[in-house]
Amino acid sequence: MIDNYNFNGKRALVRVDFNVPLNKETFEVTDGTRIRAALPTLKKILNDGGSLVIMSHLGRPKNGPEEKFSLKHIVPTLEAALGKSVIFLDDCVGDKIVEQTKEFEAGKVILLENLRFHKHETAGTENFAQQLAQHGDVYVNDAFGTAHRAHASTTVVAKFFPNDKLFGYLISKEIESVERLFSTGEKPVTAIVGGAKVSSKISIITNLLDKIDNLILGGGMVYTFSKAMGGQVGSSLVEDDQLETAKEILKMAEAKNVSVILPEDSIIANGFSNDAEKKETSSSEIPDGWMGLDIGPKATESCVSCIENSKTILWNGPMGVFEFDNFEAGTKAVAQACVNVSAQGGFTLIGGGDSVAAINKYGLADQVSHVSTGGGAMLEFLEGKELPGIKAIQS
Ligand code: AMP
Repeated sequence: MIDNYNFNGKRALVRVDFNVPLNKETFEVTDGTRIRAALPTLKKILNDGGSLVIMSHLGRPKNGPEEKFSLKHIVPTLEAALGKSVIFLDDCVGDKIVEQTKEFEAGKVILLENLRFHKHETAGTENFAQQLAQHGDVYVNDAFGTAHRAHASTTVVAKFFPNDKLFGYLISKEIESVERLFSTGEKPVTAIVGGAKVSSKISIITNLLDKIDNLILGGGMVYTFSKAMGGQVGSSLVEDDQLETAKEILKMAEAKNVSVILPEDSIIANGFSNDAEKKETSSSEIPDGWMGLDIGPKATESCVSCIENSKTILWNGPMGVFEFDNFEAGTKAVAQACVNVSAQGGFTLIGGGDSVAAINKYGLADQVSHVSTGGGAMLEFLEGKELPGIKAIQS
């Protein structure tokens, strides 16, 4: 636990996720949320009397250094967030860099250049990880977004700190949130799984069925379920190769006593556009040429009531094409219901899909218990996979 660790007199090598969006011409940071999110961990280390050597990736450089992916662009934002000056080093390994990181000085903050300027980072090369390890006395991983990758700085480096490796506050909160959903959370536990396709959510749903009381299905995948049960779905998004899987999921849910809410009605449109003509209909009687783009009012009422009667919630994936304002009502109502549960003392985890974008669209992110910072990492976590970045610290 980071809270129980005293960084006094130690150089902390901290892996953060500063993969922030930059203005394409001026390279200024356009959204510093990820930098601010790392502050609790960075400040804890500095307040204890430690020093920081910060490492991160930025973008996807292909062949070595590229100006547009240099972490030097984030220095002003990091300095403003920390209220301290930051020493930027133009590489992350090598004798010259070690020269700068080897002397301890309390309160010193060093930012290393983009790890991915070396292909050894994503390859997880042991020797490269060992070179990174020279920069610190203790290793802290607070980059949840890359925890599902066995990269040098997220996983391999940990082996060089057998007794001094720990999670930062951000990763700790992600792990606690999933543990609460999987085992320690108060019942009833409800998972809301939406989004576009069944195929991308099968592993999550099957992993969750042992852990939840209710499963609410929404989004485009509803129509694969509806067709599988003999419904008419018009031109809605359907994965014909998943019809059997959909039936299988419903059977498994029944066998495990999980009650499934499939939206009984839908808002349908005569085209995939915000301005398309729209009307309400049963989710199993969608005429030809029409497609379901949101859950309907009856379904919304059932979903909200189920959510508001639950104590622990996972929301993964929107209920409809919420990017179109005319088809966002179901998603917005679910977001508000999650907020209401949180206000009543329930636990709400939003993550692993576009529901994060939805909760942000409605400005409600700070009114739920936890909004995950890692899309792909959270998906794999919810699928029950072991994340290498987490295992490396725990083992
Ligand atoms: P995911 O990343 O799996 O959470 O999927 C999110 C995407 O699913 C969003 O971009 C939504 O626009 C899309 N989506 C949700 N409902 C529908 C629908 N009924 N038809 C087509 N796409 C949908």
